[in-house]
Amino acid sequence: MNSVKTYDVIIVGAGIVGGALACALGGSDHKVAVIEAQPLNTDWPEQSEAIDGFDARVSALTLASKNFLNSMGVWELIAGRRVSPYREMHVWDAEGTGNIHFNAQDVNQPVLGHIVENRITSKALLQKIQQYNNIDFIAPAKLETIQSGDDSSYQLLLDDGRTLDAALLVAADGANSKVRNLAGMEMREWDYGHDAIVATVKNENSHQQTAWQRFLPEGPLAFLPLSTADHHQQYCSIVWSAIPSYAENLMALDDADFSAALGTAFENTLGEVLEVSHRFSFPLRQRHAVDYVKTGLALIGDAAHTIHPLAGQGVNLGLMDALALSEELLRAQQRQLNPGSLAVLERYQRRRKAANLSTMAGMEGFKRLFEQPALPIRWARNVGMRWLNKTPPLKNQLIRQAMGL
Ligand SMILES: Cc1cc2nc3c(=O)[nH]c(=O)nc-3n(C[C@H](O)[C@H](O)[C@H](O)COP(=O)(O)OP(=O)(O)OC[C@H]3O[C@@H](n4cnc5c(N)ncnc54)[C@H](O)[C@@H]3O)c2cc1C
Repeated sequence: MNSVKTYDVIIVGAGIVGGALACALGGSDHKVAVIEAQPLNTDWPEQSEAIDGFDARVSALTLASKNFLNSMGVWELIAGRRVSPYREMHVWDAEGTGNIHFNAQDVNQPVLGHIVENRITSKALLQKIQQYNNIDFIAPAKLETIQSGDDSSYQLLLDDGRTLDAALLVAADGANSKVRNLAGMEMREWDYGHDAIVATVKNENSHQQTAWQRFLPEGPLAFLPLSTADHHQQYCSIVWSAIPSYAENLMALDDADFSAALGTAFENTLGEVLEVSHRFSFPLRQRHAVDYVKTGLALIGDAAHTIHPLAGQGVNLGLMDALALSEELLRAQQRQLNPGSLAVLERYQRRRKAANLSTMAGMEGFKRLFEQPALPIRWARNVGMRWLNKTPPLKNQLIRQAMGL
């Protein structure tokens, strides 16, 4: 018969958010297990500068996220790799003359944020997790089913036949969270009516360490600056969100025609698009859990909420979930409270739910505003953008909020 191993905290999913929560609990008195479906690989990816040598999934990490990663000694592992700071941000409307320009100097910061390939952030977190004796990393292993016990604990059955017990089960297993579904946690969700195409591109001209976003009638198009080992500034990661029929047509184009369409949609702001990597496309859905917690269980990151990538906030919100939950768990430990107790978990929920909802509502408002074809709305939107651009106190408050300050 299999013996049952018991933990204080079991985290299902070692993506960026689950990995960050594990690191934040590293070295504490909590006995932690992390279960990840993918095999463990802590080797750093080769930093090839071939167009397909970059991860197509990148994140714009805010200053708040960087500070969190720094506090765990993870940022220093990331900083030695390909990381591109961006100091400016240009946002403009394809249907008029409205534009906004943000500059880090205006808010007395050296940078607005950093663009990092997701696999680099993940590898740095995994390397850190390996250093802690209080964390068991179980991979590859998939959660199959869960059962709640008579007390507040959960019993987990893995696909390799192992059985584990947790005082607190944390779902960090992404947008289609199995934990959330098995636990019957209710979600509010709807389609954004957009697919996102992601790829790496090489441009004719330098990206100038600037994040660029053009709002087109079909959806927003972002060019995010990438760095290379020899500091070439021609590579960008693109996120092109568009109505599904339009995105399907773009996906069907060959590389030359896609590059030409991309250059035109971006007004060739960085010159011609010279090269494009393999493209990936994802349907975008907004999701938000009605409750993030119940006794013995908590949702974090994409398992709790997913958001349109137009402002690059998804992983940043998830990292702030991981920070808040880790703080509440460490506080509970000092007070000798059960980590799965509802009182402990509700403190986490109170800290994160309102913040996540307000960011999601803001993004939804932006998306809706920019997809309105009616002339009076387009006119008002462009006037509003120009006014905001000339109103530093408001503009700076907006950018400080986006930076998580
Ligand atoms: C096109 C696009 C662009 C984006 N750009 C940005 C951006 O610029 N900035 C930003 O902040 N966010 C961005 N996001 C959002 C961001 O990518 C996500 O919010 C983030 O990756 C979520 O991380 P996570 O750790 O919660 O989930 P995930 O990354 O999905 O990780 C979940 C983990 O759980 C594991 N898992 C799943 N099921 C099981 C199981 N049954 N058993 C064991 N393990 C399991 C998976 O293998 C995976 O490792 C973007 C999203 C999209 C779609």
